Amino acid sequence: MVLGIIAAGAIAVIALWWHSTPDVSGLGGWLTGAGEVLGLLAGYGVVVLVALMARLPPLERGLGGDQLARWHAMGGRYVVSVVCAHGLLILWGYAVEAHTSVVSETATLLTQYPDVLMATAAGFLLLGVGIVSMRAARRRVRYETWYYLHLYTYLAIALAFSHQFADGAAFTSSLAARFWWSAMYLTVLVLVLWYRVAVPLRAYMRHRFTVTGIKAEGPGVISVYIGGSRLSELNAEPGQYFRWRFLTRSLWWSSHPYSLSAAPGQDLLRITVKDIGDHSRALSRLRPGTRVFAEGPYGALTPATSGSGRAAVLVAGGVGITPLRAIFATLPGPVTLIYRASRAQDVVFREELDAIAAARGATVHYLIGPRDGFGGDPLSPRSLRTLVPGLDEQDAYVCGPPGMTAAAVRALRAAGVPRARIHFESFEF
Ligand SMILES: Cc1cc2nc3c(=O)[nH]c(=O)nc-3n(C[C@H](O)[C@H](O)[C@H](O)COP(=O)(O)OP(=O)(O)OC[C@H]3O[C@@H](n4cnc5c(N)ncnc54)[C@H](O)[C@@H]3O)c2cc1C
Repeated sequence: MVLGIIAAGAIAVIALWWHSTPDVSGLGGWLTGAGEVLGLLAGYGVVVLVALMARLPPLERGLGGDQLARWHAMGGRYVVSVVCAHGLLILWGYAVEAHTSVVSETATLLTQYPDVLMATAAGFLLLGVGIVSMRAARRRVRYETWYYLHLYTYLAIALAFSHQFADGAAFTSSLAARFWWSAMYLTVLVLVLWYRVAVPLRAYMRHRFTVTGIKAEGPGVISVYIGGSRLSELNAEPGQYFRWRFLTRSLWWSSHPYSLSAAPGQDLLRITVKDIGDHSRALSRLRPGTRVFAEGPYGALTPATSGSGRAAVLVAGGVGITPLRAIFATLPGPVTLIYRASRAQDVVFREELDAIAAARGATVHYLIGPRDGFGGDPLSPRSLRTLVPGLDEQDAYVCGPPGMTAAAVRALRAAGVPRARIHFESFEF
């Protein structure tokens, strides 16, 4: 449905161009026309990209943050390409129509057309952010560096806005079109401010989240207990995550996603964190009483949105056990948990999981050690079918590092579980 709405918007944008273009003739006209329609699509595309990241509850709960991030990344690549093509086609088309060279037309556009200089700077900013976001480049920069560079897209959008009305034929001739376009930008701006700023502030005031304790769960893994008031009003579900901002001198400036590792209580939440970098490592030094901003709940890996009453298999990889531990304790019906870890010391919650399994008559399979020890992939379709009789009739929930999650989803598909019954979350945006 979301993709349908986005596509319908794109069709409306093309219709706007069609309506405002009486005729297209000659090479110059076609090039300019193509440049204009791509410009409109780019203007619309950036709004869609921002809306996907505006933390809208229906999207966050329906699709999940990791899925939204994947769409955002893919859409970002299209939009940056469309922006570049828009600029080049307009330049070329104008040059052909004016019987001049592209170089001299570039100078004319930059100096004589209103706001084109600003829009060009915006285009280069978007291109720069696109390059930094490419997989090969992104691996080389710190997450925080990439994230803060990414915020320059807001500046780019602001810089490019006015040239659309000043130069775009679709807008210079139509007040209604200007109104529609402004309303679209304004709506998304309000949604971003509301859901990314106002709602977390309001939640902080209302729930007064505070660290109440830290517990070591295993080498490099700790649980953080967070107390607060009226937590049931959050409507958080097992399997969901929050973005946590711990208000200490070194951590207040960044928020990180961590899943609830136990079903949310009336006045207590628990997250469990593996130390893989600066932030996750610093959490072991948190003191009780530390104030916390919590943004959420987010995530679509919840039986509440996807549960069906069928038997279920949960497949966890490494610290991906956290949301599945919460689901394991609460999902109704027969459940099998498969927990994959490279080393025995990486298994957390073993006692808790065994106690839950005993209490509800569920099964836990710990698959520990390197592949060779299993004589092959322990999460292959065949071994999954052996571990879980009747697997193809069940719902499946998968969580872990991106590579393991993708492999487990493929194996479940190959083992006969329909795509619609596989719910997964990857611990990477
Ligand atoms: C939906 C979701 C739920 C998660 N739940 C858990 C959990 O329950 N327990 C757990 O141990 N880990 C969880 N993670 C992973 C956790 O967020 C990262 O391990 C942590 O943010 C790493 O930060 P760092 O500074 O310690 O490490 P870094 O070395 O800075 O980052 C390592 C990697 O973590 C990711 N990352 C870093 N900072 C952020 C950020 N601010 N926002 C998003 N991703 C970031 C990036 O992919 C980065 O490459 C979850 C991730 C996601 C997306």
